[in-house]
Amino acid sequence: MTPDKETLIKQATEWAQKYLDPNFEFRKYQLESIVLIITRVLDEVKTQVMNAPTGSGKSLTAIISAGVLFEYYKKTSYILCSDLSLFAQYEADLKRYNLPWGHLKGKDNYVCQRNGNIVSCGECALNMVSTRTLQDAESAEKAGYSCAKECEYVKMRNLAMKAPVTVMTYQLYLIQRNYVNDLMGGEDGYMPFPERDFVICDEAHKLNDIIQSHYAPRIPVDVPEFMKTLDKYASKHHIKVPDSRSTIRWANKLKSAKNHADIISAMQRYSDLLSEYAYINEKVREEAQKTRQFRKLRAELTAGNLARECNCKCSDFLELVKELGPQIAVKTEGENEITINCTYEGEMITKYFHNVSKCELFMSATLGDLTLYKELIGVKDCPKGQYKGLDVPSTFDFSKSPIYYSEANPMSFKEKANSIRPICRQIIEICNMFKGKRGIIQTGNYENTTKLLDYVPADLKKRFITYTNAREKNYALDRFLESEDGILVGPTLLEGLNFDGDKCRFSICMKLPYASLANNLVAAKKDLIPNWYAGQCVASLEQGFGRGVRFNGDWCVNYILDGCIASLIKYNANLFSRNTQMRFKRLG
Ligand code: SF4
Repeated sequence: MTPDKETLIKQATEWAQKYLDPNFEFRKYQLESIVLIITRVLDEVKTQVMNAPTGSGKSLTAIISAGVLFEYYKKTSYILCSDLSLFAQYEADLKRYNLPWGHLKGKDNYVCQRNGNIVSCGECALNMVSTRTLQDAESAEKAGYSCAKECEYVKMRNLAMKAPVTVMTYQLYLIQRNYVNDLMGGEDGYMPFPERDFVICDEAHKLNDIIQSHYAPRIPVDVPEFMKTLDKYASKHHIKVPDSRSTIRWANKLKSAKNHADIISAMQRYSDLLSEYAYINEKVREEAQKTRQFRKLRAELTAGNLARECNCKCSDFLELVKELGPQIAVKTEGENEITINCTYEGEMITKYFHNVSKCELFMSATLGDLTLYKELIGVKDCPKGQYKGLDVPSTFDFSKSPIYYSEANPMSFKEKANSIRPICRQIIEICNMFKGKRGIIQTGNYENTTKLLDYVPADLKKRFITYTNAREKNYALDRFLESEDGILVGPTLLEGLNFDGDKCRFSICMKLPYASLANNLVAAKKDLIPNWYAGQCVASLEQGFGRGVRFNGDWCVNYILDGCIASLIKYNANLFSRNTQMRFKRLG
């Protein structure tokens, strides 16, 4: 029977005081959230979603919930991070509180002490020594790898496997819970990272994109290097050499594909070709095992791995097509490859995430409307009571952080030519109001940045700090933070930036962050899922509103100058959080 609320409050308080700080104080709403999360896990609710605004103490909510669940109920957890900077924050928390929990990133983030390569190309990997052999000191030593005892990766992996709570990236979790467990589970039931009672997904609004980029097959427009390497191997060993140049044929077919059936037919042919390479990969591995010439066969082994990975992605996708029909496939043409995406992301999340996880908590500051989110993560038809939401109210005082919006000058494709000049004039006025203060201007694209730069007077331009690509953005950020009254201007300033205190006192949005409809996946999802397109734009805007208000008492004035906001507010007000709705003020 699930314990009552008082018991859970006592346990959460005891745990926090024992492991975090004897004088630990919960933030407003935090203890209630933790109690609710734990109750739902104990009640075996499959999916929980939590909108937790900045300042609600999201990561400590995750840590305390996982800690209490293990301490009092022996329930084990994974905590998943969307990127390495979030991972580093959790790592720092575990260190600060001395929590002996696991934290593991992908192999490429660790260095082999024996040959100085990343661990996936470390001495043991080149000689195909299994991680299972390395995890046990005795077997590692027998295999000639006494270094495993001191190896950072091996140590972290061992701890991650044994610990009751383990922090890892989404990417690593997906690989471990799908491919690795499939490959290893057959042997003697050994699974390095088996299903745990609870999976906490931080920054969960990124899960859909992560799943897409992880599983979308990519078809190169030219013969890839791995095929060339394996062709040579096949020819030398009298194995039938596949027709690698047909890659170009299938890529061209894909380019000219007019309908779903054409896309699938080209993919099927490409998949057949990949199966031939997967076969050669097996032959390479057989030879490597027999001759122990791992180092000599390094290039072929690496090429074989790539062939196997591409083959898996393609076959998995074709499996989904069998289940859901060819209409799920959309193509996006890049310079060097064509990406095939599945429009039913929810089905992919079900297959690769829900089906390999027990109870789940999706949390973020910007999940948006929780009914829409239910559809996006593929649990629209889940049994009653198996999807529960939680909207944590913000505790920040936003009285000095209004969001002004203008209903004039829409920046839609048709109207932007007429709107851009009046918007530039408004920007000059706002920047002059904030003399001596730092701020940011979200331009939406580089074209708008250029137009703005052409328009502003020289004295204001001196304050502008711009960039033209991702690498330059880092330098621009440093210059901005060193400046006294700099204005950071660019198209990608809505996510991942923390401008606390006086680092940013005003923020201007020149163009609403709608995703580009030139992307076929975006266009297809817009048609398929009502409100998804508007919801994405609202989520990006809300991410942006969070850049300059990082703690209670912090403030930043926001301006949305793209007049398209008027219809977004009129028809999709429900997609904005309550806090945001209360901060809106129309510009006169
Ligand atoms: S176990 Fe030894 S050989 Fe393998 S990555 Fe670690 S240090 Fe390198």
